Amino acid sequence: MKILTNIAELSAVKQSWQDQTVALVPTMGNLHRGHLALAEQAQHSAQRVIVSIFVNPLQFGPQEDFARYPRTLDADLEQLKNLGVDAVFTPTTEMLYPPQNAGMTRIDPGPIGDILCGQFRPNHFTGVATIVGKLFHLVQPDIAIFGQKDYQQAVIIQQMVQDLNFPLKILIAPTVREADGLALSSRNQYLNAAERTLAPSLYETLVWVAQQIKPGDKNILALCQQAQLRLEQQHFTVDYVTVRIQKTLAAPDASTPTESLIVLAAAFLGKTRLIDNVLVGNYATNFSKS
Ligand code: AMP
Repeated sequence: MKILTNIAELSAVKQSWQDQTVALVPTMGNLHRGHLALAEQAQHSAQRVIVSIFVNPLQFGPQEDFARYPRTLDADLEQLKNLGVDAVFTPTTEMLYPPQNAGMTRIDPGPIGDILCGQFRPNHFTGVATIVGKLFHLVQPDIAIFGQKDYQQAVIIQQMVQDLNFPLKILIAPTVREADGLALSSRNQYLNAAERTLAPSLYETLVWVAQQIKPGDKNILALCQQAQLRLEQQHFTVDYVTVRIQKTLAAPDASTPTESLIVLAAAFLGKTRLIDNVLVGNYATNFSKS
């Protein structure tokens, strides 16, 4: 496995691969089974796989966890090597954001970046779109793979690729979960023991909402309010619980087919912000309760 610490090394390896197809998996490191599932999907989708590891300061708000975000490069490289990934790109912040460039160009995803998580994390999706756009230009992959776990992010990247004519295909891979249903996330390690016991009720509640939705449903708003109450009873502080149209994240109306809906939520347990989502009519319920 090649470890590419700068753009020149990346370009040289890309050139040596000539006409082979390349899949990119962008990550912020601290890899878990969810990230590895994306890398495996990448191996099935292209001849060469590059995983990038970069904690992107541009997508963190001033009060967020950039400084304490878990950085575990050695363990990450070990896992990727065992998987047989071809290359890992590990640029530094200074390489991607030279300090003299403080007022740099950014990619604004438009109104879809201001709803849902964007409403609570101003500029977050501009930071995401900018780094992903840069990685696409640097790596020039044929395919890039993102997790359904960060659903709004995946939709924004799909839209960016379409709107800005990036010549690649985006794949969205299913969310990998713990045995009790909690979506794997690097931020789960911030949870204390009591919070960790409560955490699976986020997914349980989203599944409950998905199960309640009936064709032509006019009571989705009330359902989401009930879901919010359930979460608050489990000590969550809720940013949002909502039902949207999968493709656009727009609000549905009574004529929207149920199978094109998605239930999404973001909520804090203590200081830890968890997000999750469930496609209506397409979710697993075989998770054991702890
Ligand atoms: P991150 O390192 O958190 O930026 O995530 C890198 C990629 O892994 C993103 O496309 C995420 O959506 C994806 N990802 C994170 N957690 C999971 C999970 N539990 N299952 C599947 N993909 C995930």
